[in-house]
Amino acid sequence: MQTKINTAQEAFGYWKAKPINERIAHVQNLKKVLHEHRIHYATLITQEMGKPITQSLAEVDKCGVLCDYYCENAVTLLQPKPIKTEAYESYVTYEPLGVLLGVMPWNFPFWQVFRFTIPSILAGNVVLVKHASNVTQSAESIEALFIESDFPIGIYQNLHITSDKVAEVIAHPEIKAVSLTGSEAAGSAVAAQAGKHLKKSLLELGGSNAFIVCEDANIDKAVAVAVNARMQNAGQSCIAAKRFLIQHSIFDTFTEKYKQAVSQLIAGDPMNTETQIGPLARLDLAEELEKQINQSISMGANVILGGKRKGAFYEPTILINVTSEMPVFKEETFGPVAALVAFDTLNDAIEISNQSDFGLGVSIFTEDIHYIKNRINEFHEGAVFINEMIKSDPRLPFGGIKKSGYGRELSEEGIKEFVNIKTVVIN
Ligand code: NDP
Repeated sequence: MQTKINTAQEAFGYWKAKPINERIAHVQNLKKVLHEHRIHYATLITQEMGKPITQSLAEVDKCGVLCDYYCENAVTLLQPKPIKTEAYESYVTYEPLGVLLGVMPWNFPFWQVFRFTIPSILAGNVVLVKHASNVTQSAESIEALFIESDFPIGIYQNLHITSDKVAEVIAHPEIKAVSLTGSEAAGSAVAAQAGKHLKKSLLELGGSNAFIVCEDANIDKAVAVAVNARMQNAGQSCIAAKRFLIQHSIFDTFTEKYKQAVSQLIAGDPMNTETQIGPLARLDLAEELEKQINQSISMGANVILGGKRKGAFYEPTILINVTSEMPVFKEETFGPVAALVAFDTLNDAIEISNQSDFGLGVSIFTEDIHYIKNRINEFHEGAVFINEMIKSDPRLPFGGIKKSGYGRELSEEGIKEFVNIKTVVIN
């Protein structure tokens, strides 16, 4: 570990001094190599964590889109900002912090690493990445990708450590900040350690997004989006819709159509291009989901589709008669289970949506855009999407409030998370 930190520290010395266009050229080259080997990387993702191959390819391609976005915009985003004051001259500059630590999860083993790494290194930082222990092949291949695309040594390095060693890395004087995507427990441990050593942390944690369908919505569109919003990546996504709040008058119609659509998903071998839903990434994750569902059933929820586990595969499942005390409502469910709740008025829907401890995002389906726009500030969320599922986009900031974490990735806000925002005044 010490050797890698030394290497990173040395690399930071010359990397930060490079003109930004040279850093951009390196990332452009990386993107080229990534694209050339997209099938190889996607296959690794699928083999390691069971994501259907078409979705793994989409993940790799999205990493390329992120590289393009930051290569096109980094110069503008990081250029000094003049601010008019009484002084002769005043402005703000954005300088890199140094060696950053990323603690990364397994559900999007490429995307989440790229989302953290690319803006960080374009801003002049260097990174050490501790990947989740169940995606080590993906981790190896990302490090190899940096080497293959002629990145200087030390800009990107993997740390082969277990999670109990993360605290030691954070405490190291050369580590300037830490970014974690994962569970509340991991986030809390990392933030506590970062706080102890007065270092900046960014947390992207869980979510239990509501997906609200109002009676004036285009139901067929809402149903089609709701399938993807919950079932993509077998439901293993922090921004997946998890609680479906449906207005009473359309509850039965929506439920019937949703059940019909979900039951048509093709499950099977994730390497098959026809497959839409594969196994969960680990047996313990499927067992945990089974526990949450069974407990909710014992509290009165009814299964109208699925509800069974076969090894690490959990059937796409829909539950009705869900209440706010049940685990499928209160906790994050990291698998293909949709919890349906009926509501009377939009006021009720907002209240139910806000009952979650999480605050990543909410989707609302309605044709009355004017009305809903005036109520967006009532949702306690990092994102509100109208007539669309929550999805990340390099052009838009991404992150949550409450137990979903803090800080923002992507867009201008993301590239400015790990910089020293330096104020300069000249008189
Ligand atoms: P974890 O949060 O345990 O894993 C995410 C990353 O954090 C991994 O690299 C892990 O390392 C590391 N980590 C775990 N504990 C600590 C710690 N105390 N200190 C420092 N690093 C730590 O997620 P799980 O894989 O256990 O998944 C459990 C649940 O977490 C999921 O069911 C889901 O609800 C949520 N989750 C949310 C994600 C999101 O995108 N927001 C992503 C992944 C999980 P290691 O693998 O070595 O344990």
